[in-house]
Amino acid sequence: MRLRRSTATPPGYRGGVPRPLTIAGCRSLCSWHDTGDRLDGERLFACAGCGSEWVPSEAWTPIDYEGDVPGPVAAARRTRGTG
Ligand SMILES: [Zn+2]
Repeated sequence: MRLRRSTATPPGYRGGVPRPLTIAGCRSLCSWHDTGDRLDGERLFACAGCGSEWVPSEAWTPIDYEGDVPGPVAAARRTRGTG
């Protein structure tokens, strides 16, 4: 059985975030920082290496060029889901 895809819901739309995040791969250069901006009430992080963006509600966790989760990112992840 085939499902009809609603034209009102674009493929890949997950809801929650008012615009698609920019996501690129650059593990050799990644350096994440808190942009100080907010996206739909969430802290918006950005990578200085590739321009990727991240908010705490994302299912993935960014890591920096050293392979570690940046401190501010880890802190933001810990505090999400508490409200
Ligand atoms: Zn990056």
